[in-house]
Amino acid sequence: MSKLYFRYGAMGSSKTANAIMVQYNYQERGQNALMLKPRLDDRDGARIVGSRSGLSAPCRFVEELDGIDLTAYDCVIVDEAQFLTKAQVEKLVEIVDGMGIPVICYGLRADFQGNLFEGSHWLMAWADTIEEIKTVCWCGRKATMNARVAGGKVVKSGEQIVLGGNESYVALCRKHWALGELAPLEIRRIAAGKEAYMPLLLEADPSEAMISKYLDAGELYALLANGQTAGEAVIIPREDGSMELKNLAVAEAYRGRGYGKKLVEHMVKLCSTRADRLYVGTSPANVPFYEGLGFERAYTEKGFFTDNYPEPIIENGIVLDDMIYLAKDL
Ligand SMILES: [Zn+2]
Repeated sequence: MSKLYFRYGAMGSSKTANAIMVQYNYQERGQNALMLKPRLDDRDGARIVGSRSGLSAPCRFVEELDGIDLTAYDCVIVDEAQFLTKAQVEKLVEIVDGMGIPVICYGLRADFQGNLFEGSHWLMAWADTIEEIKTVCWCGRKATMNARVAGGKVVKSGEQIVLGGNESYVALCRKHWALGELAPLEIRRIAAGKEAYMPLLLEADPSEAMISKYLDAGELYALLANGQTAGEAVIIPREDGSMELKNLAVAEAYRGRGYGKKLVEHMVKLCSTRADRLYVGTSPANVPFYEGLGFERAYTEKGFFTDNYPEPIIENGIVLDDMIYLAKDL
């Protein structure tokens, strides 16, 4: 007996990553699983499902179902299923009951105001199996609500779906969603959409070309203060097995609060499980900051700033020349 599944979870509960894993499991068994998502607007959006973890996979649009021969498929997977219409959910029911193909839907249960989405409503009503994918609020409780965040604040009014806006979404427990309280301070890894973090990274390293070199291969972390990006750090493995802190930036409005120190201490902790040393290359003005955190001078790279940057970088009235490397044993 084939079934219609609805696996729901709040933002960041790895629904898309789960969907991609299920498709992979089918492929591993020599079977075909069709990945679908609803098309949100008239523009020809990307036929791709992407997860915050950085995983992505090609997909087709639910709207294209009529033109797809399903007989070769052993399973249909639908991501972003909250955006399905009632008619589209009916179509999925037909695929399960009429063709005997299991359909697995992944989506949010409720919108930023706590109302069911249309797709979730009908999936809740008609699915054979309903499963919750859990994630946690910053307070540690189960996150069941999706808060819309704009300008660092939880907003409660507006359209259900905003296309191309500057809003972001955060999973919160019901209490913190109701109070509109975001994490006072948290450090999160950013795996997808790293380009949006470039402006602040440029404050610590004025060359976009240099940043691009390490941003892709490196791990980017953001320090969020009440939902606002207050600081960023990038770490990257070195060829000798040690790690290097390539960028550390705190936004001007948040300086003087110890956020830079918090980020470095967090990077030290993360690196300590996989390397023996953490290096950082910096300019003379920042040496005391790192020394205060237990780093010691390791070596100097002569002419680094003058050789690698098209424009002279001036710090405290002096043109930067050599890069000073410090290291901390982990
Ligand atoms: Zn909470």
